[in-house]
Amino acid sequence: NGIQLQDLVQLGKIGSGNSGTVIKALHVPDSRVIAKKTIPVENKTLVKSQLIRELSIMQNVKPHQNIVGFYGAFYTASTTNEIVILMEYMDCGSLDKILSTYKRYLSRGELEFRDPWFNELVLSKISFAVLNGLSYLYGHYKIIHRDIKPSNVLISSKGFVKICDFGVSKKLINSIADTFVGTSTYMSPERIQGSVYTTKGDVWSLGLMIIELVTGEFPLGGHKDTPEGILDLLQRIVNEPPPRLPYNPEFSKEMVDFVNRCCVKDERERSSLQELMCHGFIERYKSQGEREFRHWCKRIKRRIKEDKMLKREEKERAKLVSR
Ligand code: ADP
Ligand code: MG
Repeated sequence: NGIQLQDLVQLGKIGSGNSGTVIKALHVPDSRVIAKKTIPVENKTLVKSQLIRELSIMQNVKPHQNIVGFYGAFYTASTTNEIVILMEYMDCGSLDKILSTYKRYLSRGELEFRDPWFNELVLSKISFAVLNGLSYLYGHYKIIHRDIKPSNVLISSKGFVKICDFGVSKKLINSIADTFVGTSTYMSPERIQGSVYTTKGDVWSLGLMIIELVTGEFPLGGHKDTPEGILDLLQRIVNEPPPRLPYNPEFSKEMVDFVNRCCVKDERERSSLQELMCHGFIERYKSQGEREFRHWCKRIKRRIKEDKMLKREEKERAKLVSR
């Protein structure tokens, strides 16, 4: 049942983030494609064995339709100093990848792609999936995700939306200290100020994520990747009014209200997971649009493939020009 590292054949790189690198791999014995994440860690046996123990908590999380399947965690021989996490491969990738694919289509001037890819049906289905996954993790295991952002929400062409990389391991999070790297942060004001962290912190992040999917931009403005730049962004999150969706008469009242209830700076006044799960924006599409959403996921898969080809052609052309 457990997957052995020696049974894997590397297929290609998927992406890399602040904490490590993710590749696609084939598990030869059952010809299953999986995702393999490698995280470099400090070479201290104690730290590593603690990390592994914490990661094994993930092993105890029973499969759920909104949580990326977990197939095991290892740390490789003392020469490499890395932790390997094996998980379900999601063939449409993460929301940040889908968003940047969409933006490339727009910049190529493809008229067909003027319509938003993330329409309200899609946003409602994604929001429900995230809320449902979060409330499963907390309800059954008292696990708080702590890192909801577009790159940790994954889509499959079968129509599944799943969250990954939940912060089971505070140690792991600390050892890679990745929260401050990168040009955006989805951290809530109370977390920045060091208060107790609850699932409502993830609700804040979900609100920011929806705004980003609608507008195409991280709502709080970026920052320079310097200590000053990061401090400035953190200060803006704490001191400035919360982000909002831009005004657009085509947005439903429900969606605007949903986002407004997520992006509340005072954690006590922010809606809870349970409240949001019965919000009108979720209810409206709960018992319908299933087929349409599956079609959307299939279409996304085709667009991603197409985009890869176009990118390759553009590169080739650039090479020819430069000659
Ligand atoms: P981050 O989430 O900070 O971007 P990660 O190392 O967690 O960094 O992931 C790198 C990229 O790999 C993600 O942006 C995502 O697009 C992709 N990815 C991660 N896990 C999977 C998976 N299980 N299936 C498909 N793609 C994945
Ligand atoms: Mg991730």
